[in-house]
Amino acid sequence: MLIKSAEFVVSNSDVAKCPKSSLPEYAFIGRSNVGKSSLINMLTGRRSLAKTSGKPGKTQLINHFLINKNWHLVDLPGYGYARVSKSSKKTFQKFITQYFSYREQLVSAFVLVDIRHKPQPIDLEFMNWLGENSIPFSIIFTKADKLKPKVIERHVDDYKKVMLEFWEEMPNYFVTSSSKSIGKDDVLAYIETLNDS
Ligand code: GDP
Repeated sequence: MLIKSAEFVVSNSDVAKCPKSSLPEYAFIGRSNVGKSSLINMLTGRRSLAKTSGKPGKTQLINHFLINKNWHLVDLPGYGYARVSKSSKKTFQKFITQYFSYREQLVSAFVLVDIRHKPQPIDLEFMNWLGENSIPFSIIFTKADKLKPKVIERHVDDYKKVMLEFWEEMPNYFVTSSSKSIGKDDVLAYIETLNDS
């Protein structure tokens, strides 16, 4: 899919205020600092559509972007940051839960995972929660440029092993690098297939 246009639409913390249109949407979520903003910028070919930030946990909002005037890319807040208060963690959980539970336009989520790390409980818990709630998702491994191909393979295998303890099969996944523009075409082609189906 060629990205012809990418526009910011609205930010909010209330799923009821998300765009009313029935366009299909895809939500990107993961731990703070996983490389979500960089990935969104790579996918859309815009250098600063999503704000890359040195301050984890700063973007606490649901951000809608209109892509090619026919689908929404949704940038959700990063989870798992240590330096926020308990009450803001609770607020975060509430509106994320509401987003996934009520947003009928959502076609699929993309859960971002840093390829350098062993499977982390917080990511596994989140994916299990999506599964239990029948919310379709794919995994996007980020920062693949940081590892050699053999190590990438090993880390993906580690993930497969852990996932197969809970799931019948490994969810659909992509290996990406925003610095080296790896995986962009695969993710966009997948979204295009879902949009057309
Ligand atoms: P976010 O908090 O998940 O939105 O993450 P950012 O996109 O702001 O990235 C967090 C840090 O990881 C920044 O220092 C980025 O430069 C770095 N980063 C993001 N993507 C990549 C990548 O594909 N490769 C490498 N090497 N670094 C990356």
